[in-house]
Amino acid sequence: MDRDGTLNPDLHYLRDASLLELNRGVGNALRLAREHGYLVICVTNQSGIERGYYTSQEVDRIHEHLNELLSPHRAHIDAFYYCPHRPERGCACRKPGTLLFERARDDWGIDFATSAVVGDRAIDVLAGTKLGLLSGIVRPPGHEAAIEAELAATSATPEIRADSFGAAVGRVLGRG
Ligand SMILES: [Zn+2]
Repeated sequence: MDRDGTLNPDLHYLRDASLLELNRGVGNALRLAREHGYLVICVTNQSGIERGYYTSQEVDRIHEHLNELLSPHRAHIDAFYYCPHRPERGCACRKPGTLLFERARDDWGIDFATSAVVGDRAIDVLAGTKLGLLSGIVRPPGHEAAIEAELAATSATPEIRADSFGAAVGRVLGRG
C-alpha cells in the first residue's frame, strides 16, 4: 500500500517522526491482512529526499515509528520501499512506475495474482493495474469528487472504491 494519505494523514514532506499518526482503522486492517496470510508492504514516493527536505535516515526513522504505532494493534509492515527522486528525473521507481513493486516481488517471492494495492491516488492504481494487481482506492468522505476527477484524468480504473483504508482492505480480504 501507499503511505501518506493512506496509512497516515499526509503532512506534506513530513520530516519529524513524532508528528506521525495512523489513520483510523489502519492498525486493525493491517492486523487482519496479516492474519489472512498477506505480507504487508509499503511503496511510497519520497521526493523530499532529493529535494533536500529530509534524509533517507529520517525516512527510515518514520518507517520505524510507523511500526511502533502499529505494534499495539498487533500489526506490522514487513517492508518499506521508497523512491527518493524528484519527478523531473523520470526514474522508473517513482509511482506510477512499477520498479519498487517488482523489487518487492523479487525480494519476497510475491505472486501479484493474489496480491493487491491500496492507495489514495491514481498513481497507486496505475502502478497496480500495470502489474495485474487488484487495486483499491481510498476516497475519504468529502474527497470523492477530487479523487474521481484524478482517476478520470489518468484513465485509472480501480476495482475497489472505499471510503476508508479499513474498508478497502476488507474488500480485498473478502475477494473470492
Ligand atoms: Zn525514483
